[in-house]
Amino acid sequence: MTSTADIAIIGGGIAGLSLAAAIGGRASVVVLEAESRLFHHTSSRSAEQMQPTYGPAPVRALTTASIPMVDRRAERAGASVYTPRPLLWLHYDEGPSHFEDLLATVPGLARIGADEAVRRLPALRREPLVDAGIDMSAVEVDVPVLLSWYLSDAVEAGAVVRTDAQVTAAQRVGDVWRLTAGSDTVEAPVIVDAAGAWVDAVARTAGVRPRGLTPKRRTVAVARSARPIDPTWPMASDVADRFYFRPRGEAMLACALEDEVSEPEDAQPRPDVVETILERVNAVTDLGLAAPQTTWTGLRTLARDAVPVVGFDDEAPGFYWLAGQGGYGIQTSAALAQLVAADLLGAPHAVAGLEGVQEALSPARFSS
Ligand SMILES: Cc1cc2nc3c(=O)[nH]c(=O)nc-3n(C[C@H](O)[C@H](O)[C@H](O)COP(=O)(O)OP(=O)(O)OC[C@H]3O[C@@H](n4cnc5c(N)ncnc54)[C@H](O)[C@@H]3O)c2cc1C
Repeated sequence: MTSTADIAIIGGGIAGLSLAAAIGGRASVVVLEAESRLFHHTSSRSAEQMQPTYGPAPVRALTTASIPMVDRRAERAGASVYTPRPLLWLHYDEGPSHFEDLLATVPGLARIGADEAVRRLPALRREPLVDAGIDMSAVEVDVPVLLSWYLSDAVEAGAVVRTDAQVTAAQRVGDVWRLTAGSDTVEAPVIVDAAGAWVDAVARTAGVRPRGLTPKRRTVAVARSARPIDPTWPMASDVADRFYFRPRGEAMLACALEDEVSEPEDAQPRPDVVETILERVNAVTDLGLAAPQTTWTGLRTLARDAVPVVGFDDEAPGFYWLAGQGGYGIQTSAALAQLVAADLLGAPHAVAGLEGVQEALSPARFSS
């Protein structure tokens, strides 16, 4: 079967579906997902945080803009999607550090000191904590609900969403791209590469120069604590990126922020990494985390400068990158989708606070 659309989005994760929702029927859209179900990969494997003080400047701007947008969507649904989850930044190392840089450059982050950090999160050991800051604006987001809204908004606006539709060939024929997707052929003048860990692979399939987008493993463990947990505790994050943890129901969700390069694949946890997570969190708390109830691994896909790669390819007509969201693809999704939809449609976007962001994300920064 051959079908046509104005825009074919390759990838049925949060990037692809948030974009289809944001286009909102202003162009005909088909979303092509390789797996038999949507959101199977990184989009369902996050830590479910939206943290305006986390990430490089363009990411922070997108996150700050996204939080109220998702809130408005929740109001329309008469539902709640956020749990307040302030973010404690913990500083352990004496001497000049990334902590001072964070305080100096990231608005919304306040120094509170080590004693106050322990008062807010009593599971923390006071020693050897040196200092701490807090971002009170950070929230935990119900990702399955958010994903279901992006999907239903996309479908209601007329987007066609196909699973079992892996794009295995992409050729520019005249003014359109001709895609082989599963057993179908799809023709569209514009294709959006939103394939997560596979973005460079999709580019190669289309004969487009890859931009060095590298998938990196990250594992999370959810484990019971030996001590009572207050579900309202903040999230704690080590300034030096050795661990983060937060309550998740009656257990703790924890991570050791491993960054190992991977092939694009269905990543699975490894016992040595899970062991490291428990060791690092137990070393700085009295949580006494034991054998996890559940663990998962996802792939964060990053450009060399860790800033997303978003925009039309400057060498391949009609090829649009929506890539490299790294560890920020949930928290940036709402505003980034609006920005991209406007760019694709040649229309202005109505999101405040994003001056200069589009330029910062441009794939042209990796032009040869
Ligand atoms: C442990 C962990 C914790 C995280 N925590 C957070 C957090 O708290 N907050 C936050 O903002 N972000 C977080 N992230 C990052 C976030 O999850 C990602 O940035 C986001 O999910 C990326 O979404 P995506 O749609 O680009 O990728 P994916 O969800 O992986 O979707 C890409 C899709 O493309 C499909 N695809 C690939 N090739 C093809 C093809 N040829 N044809 C058709 N389809 C194809 C894949 O099957 C896949 O479904 C975390 C990530 C990890 C791993």
